[in-house]
Amino acid sequence: MTPPTVAVVGGGISGLVAAYRLRRSFGAAARIVVLERSARLGGKLRTVPFAGDPVDVGAEAFIARRPEVEELVAELGLADQLVYPSGARPLLFAGARLHPLPTGTLMGIPASAQAVEGLVDDDTLARITAEPTLPLRWDRGTDMSVADLVRSRFGEQVVRRSVDPLLGGVYSGLSDTAGVRAAVPTLAAALDAGATSLSDAVARALPAPSDAPVFGTLREGYGVLLEALVRAADAEFLYGTAASGLRRTGGKWSVDPIGEVDGVVLAVPAPDAARLLADSVRPAAQWVAQIPLASSVVVALAFPHDTGLPQNSGILVATGEDLSAKAFTLSSRKWPHLAERPVALVRASFGRFGDDALVDAPETQLVELARTDLATVTGFDAQPVAAFVQRWHGGLPQYREHHGEIVAAFEAEIAGIDGLEVAGAMLHGVGVPACVATGTAAAARLVDRMAG
Ligand SMILES: Cc1cc2nc3c(=O)[nH]c(=O)nc-3n(C[C@H](O)[C@H](O)[C@H](O)COP(=O)(O)OP(=O)(O)OC[C@H]3O[C@@H](n4cnc5c(N)ncnc54)[C@H](O)[C@@H]3O)c2cc1C
Repeated sequence: MTPPTVAVVGGGISGLVAAYRLRRSFGAAARIVVLERSARLGGKLRTVPFAGDPVDVGAEAFIARRPEVEELVAELGLADQLVYPSGARPLLFAGARLHPLPTGTLMGIPASAQAVEGLVDDDTLARITAEPTLPLRWDRGTDMSVADLVRSRFGEQVVRRSVDPLLGGVYSGLSDTAGVRAAVPTLAAALDAGATSLSDAVARALPAPSDAPVFGTLREGYGVLLEALVRAADAEFLYGTAASGLRRTGGKWSVDPIGEVDGVVLAVPAPDAARLLADSVRPAAQWVAQIPLASSVVVALAFPHDTGLPQNSGILVATGEDLSAKAFTLSSRKWPHLAERPVALVRASFGRFGDDALVDAPETQLVELARTDLATVTGFDAQPVAAFVQRWHGGLPQYREHHGEIVAAFEAEIAGIDGLEVAGAMLHGVGVPACVATGTAAAARLVDRMAG
């Protein structure tokens, strides 16, 4: 077969993994072109030099209970870069004071009152205790917002103090805009399987206790993975080049501005995918246009060591607290390799879906808010020796009610079309492992179809 020409649109992790897999399958002679709108690759993965060493200012970890990142890292010869957290536990700031983050919850949803004792009031504890005795209405296959489900069974405090901070950490959104089926799929499965109450469903869905680390990261940041993928993909990387049009031309595709190609992998955020597909696959575009994005800002701070930060991995903030920050990662406490650095590292996050006024605030204001909010929650009041502000406009797709059905309808439209595949955070999970999986799957489908 003549060596094919394939365009990968979007140079985030999903697109880079797709480009790498295509290179492996098609071999050295194939022409693989990666179009990236911005001046750098990586999308929501970004590692910058900070206080003398590399630091991630986008994603900073991956779920280690999924295999994709560890497998990819090993395959690329980077296994010695893998590191795991110290085991320090996170805190929760709720009701203007710090609490240990409850254990034995599913995304903050407790299986019993005991799990949230001290965090919610006595009325709420009594309500959780009584919940298994109340009839539960859940139609198999249905969906609703996580907030509606939890509020109707356990009350508002559990939503705002326990569930929102956890969902906010993963999706940059609140439980009002998270669908049960997409955001807590194992809970939906337990409810579908006939759980008699929410407490029962959570108990059934809780993962078995394990000593295996929940998270992992890379010693020198995600940048080393991006560099290895770029080398191994051996593609033409077109920086500052947005794909501006996509048309079917006979058996091929025409991608503006590069022209005709045999196949395309689209690995861009949902609104960009909707724009690109609007002319060529309108029904698919209409489905994916329903997935909104949340914006946020990460402020990295470096402090002199041993200045009294708590011995915890981070602090999540409940909804309704008198703070601007949504969360803090105490990076030097969370990661042993960062504890070895000459400065103590903290990441503060601001902004979430429907609340992004601070995303475009001046850098000085964001740094000052990060510092003063950190002082409010920890009592640790010091001037940072360095600060870095990273804005993430449209950083994370929102997995709202019926997200799975939207994605299934979207993928069904794409599946009928030769030479076009889609990958990315909007589909089957926002985390890096899920993105790696979609990039791999998109490349495999394209190779199969082009070979057939
Ligand atoms: C602040 C933050 C923290 C996070 N933390 C974690 C974490 O700790 N762990 C974790 O697992 N996940 C985390 N995530 C989620 C994860 O980082 C992302 O979901 C993932 O990196 C998305 O990868 P992607 O390739 O699908 O999309 P993106 O990274 O969005 O890449 C898409 C690329 O497409 C480009 N593009 C868009 N339109 C066009 C066009 N028309 N032509 C050409 N190029 C185009 C964009 O410029 C971008 O580079 C975090 C996300 C954010 C924002």
